[in-house]
Amino acid sequence: MTTSQHKSGYLWEEMTWVEIEEKLKSVDTAILPCGAIEQHGPHLPVDIDYFDANYLARKVAEACHEPKPFVLPTIPFGVSYHHEAFKGTLSVTNNALSAFVYDIGMGLAKNGIKKIILLNGHGDNAPTLNYAAQMINRDAGIFVCVETGETSDVDIYNLIDTPNDIHAGEIETSTTLAIRPEMVKMDKAVNETLNFGSKFLDFDNDRGVSWYVRTHKISDSGVMGDATKATAEKGKQMWEIMEKQLVKFVESIKSSSLDDLYQKKY
Ligand SMILES: [Zn+2]
Repeated sequence: MTTSQHKSGYLWEEMTWVEIEEKLKSVDTAILPCGAIEQHGPHLPVDIDYFDANYLARKVAEACHEPKPFVLPTIPFGVSYHHEAFKGTLSVTNNALSAFVYDIGMGLAKNGIKKIILLNGHGDNAPTLNYAAQMINRDAGIFVCVETGETSDVDIYNLIDTPNDIHAGEIETSTTLAIRPEMVKMDKAVNETLNFGSKFLDFDNDRGVSWYVRTHKISDSGVMGDATKATAEKGKQMWEIMEKQLVKFVESIKSSSLDDLYQKKY
């Protein structure tokens, strides 16, 4: 139960239509967090990507100046078919997710939103979200981008020792230890560091190619990385980096007109 004095002032679902109409006069930017419900090794819950996207979106909006961007309810499910050999994984198809995000995006545009940030908590949603973003841009003519901070931020990779640490490893275990230590079974954490035959297959190689594989073909536990190296301290630094970068980014999007945005080179 949320009482009126505890209202965030930016969570779409908490506001009345009258409040939304009023806020739309001063802000045209909305963050749509996208998650996944999928195995995260024997030591983490299946909600990691959903929880983290939801948490980050709220933290970022809180840290932004007024008027804060809108934050939409987080989409819990994502494209996770590659984890289906592990119980607990619930995947939706690329078509279903892209159509769903497209519909929400078109609905936001009808409301007057001009800039949408798809805040992605699950790297493997990225191609699908990019496709949805293109289609919303094509049909509504508004700005739409996909931000997958957790898996793309070079500064985070500088904090860890493990190569190819992409799933339930040093990064995600650290970030969970930092904000929900009670959800981590460190006694079950394992090291399944991936070594591929070609450097071009490395997930953290800037010159790497995009390729796809069922997780159980390359990992017995579902972990891809080294969960045993995780610490709450590293996780705290990772959250700080993600929040800081993302606040800067959202502020720049929020304060630019659509015409200016299209002229900017990032
Ligand atoms: Zn994850």
